[in-house]
Amino acid sequence: MTTKSYNPFHTAQQQFDKAADLLELNLATRDLLRNPMREFHFTISVRMDDGTRKIFKAFRIQHNDARGAAKGGIRFHPQETVDTVKALSMWMTWKTAVADIPLGGGKGGVICDPHHLSQFEQEQICRGWIRQIYKNIGPFSDIPAPDVMTNPQHMLWMLDEYETITGAKYPGAITGKPIGMGGSQGRTEATGYGVIITVREALKELKIKPNKTTASFQGFGNVSQYAIELYHKMGGKTICVSSWDNDDKKSYAFRKKEGINLKELLEITDIFGGIDKNKAEKLGYEILPGDTWIEQEVDILIPAALENQINEETATKISNKVKIIAEGANGPTTIEADEILNRKNIFIIPDFLANAGGVICSYFEQVQNNTNYYWEKDEVLSKLDVKMTTAFASVSDFAKENDLKMREAAYVISVNKVAQACENRGWV
Ligand code: NAD
Repeated sequence: MTTKSYNPFHTAQQQFDKAADLLELNLATRDLLRNPMREFHFTISVRMDDGTRKIFKAFRIQHNDARGAAKGGIRFHPQETVDTVKALSMWMTWKTAVADIPLGGGKGGVICDPHHLSQFEQEQICRGWIRQIYKNIGPFSDIPAPDVMTNPQHMLWMLDEYETITGAKYPGAITGKPIGMGGSQGRTEATGYGVIITVREALKELKIKPNKTTASFQGFGNVSQYAIELYHKMGGKTICVSSWDNDDKKSYAFRKKEGINLKELLEITDIFGGIDKNKAEKLGYEILPGDTWIEQEVDILIPAALENQINEETATKISNKVKIIAEGANGPTTIEADEILNRKNIFIIPDFLANAGGVICSYFEQVQNNTNYYWEKDEVLSKLDVKMTTAFASVSDFAKENDLKMREAAYVISVNKVAQACENRGWV
């Protein structure tokens, strides 16, 4: 999308520096929080289905655990880099702090493309990942979860390997497990629903009725699919979604001005969130270049794919009609683009607030695992709503009181909480 080289970890550090300046943090606190506390780089050897051996590079990064055990997903992606994982781990630290749950921040990844791996090969990667790192993770130190291209089945293989090695049942060692195997009701929906709960609150502030709004989404995976479901229940209309086409190795936007039909699009979407463009065309969708999701004349834009999607080039294409951007993805907006969006006076719901629903529900999953008592879906979703609404209100109130943008306010609140925890423990 952009020719300029982009490093998400540099973005994460610059965002942190801004908050550190506002909070006038001392040097030791800055040095501690600008970098992860622990980094694990390792390899996983897998016997492929054709009998050959293949070595995959993998990571686990623990950014900070002053407020509680590190927590964060594991991403399978062919373009994964250690700096992406480091950035994501730092954003997890701020996310658990802003959501006010007693956990820290971590993230993991494997450089691989599940599109080209059999189920058996993926299982070997999951089990190999645990074998290499099990001594450094666990229910009381660092709890992995799913992220891009990983799912509840992957989590169950990982948990099974962890329990086999340790010789006991630790269902709280990994979250995002299947229902009936220690998973929580509502976890699959949680991130997408959480994004829309924050949109609902932002619309209230802007005094706009949800049923008078339209939206365009980037990505049609776990986050987008459930965000769209709840957004439609609120009366909103989605006119465009985009997704990655793994055959063409590029993205496409799918537009229906009268509003997309979620159910029919889901029927022609693969497990990776890729929409079949030939079938979509037959259903009356306009097939447009991938970037055009951002140019749509809508009230709400929801990036829910990957980092660096709203940048200097793309931000200028955003219509003046757009009032809210809710960052479903982690790190979708660059520092430069953020300034453009601020000049356009767009209400931004920053990533680690907007997409905190997933980790909140993961925390609920752990609580249920620890008590061995499982809640009904309604109970999970209503607790999720309370947590998301409270987090949104605390950021929005702080932003208004201190004349800050939502992103700045969210950073100041969360960095301050983590810095305080480090100081109270005597680390800085
Ligand atoms: P997913 O793998 O289920 O879906 C990703 C979607 O993005 C797919 O539809 C894919 O086709 C699409 N995509 C990829 N590259 C694209 C491109 N260049 N243009 C358009 N579409 C593209 O992933 P997900 O779980 O929905 O996660 C999406 C984002 O949300 C990521 O940034 C992730 O870190 C973040 N997130 C996810 C969760 C969660 O619980 N799943 C929680 C918090 C944050």
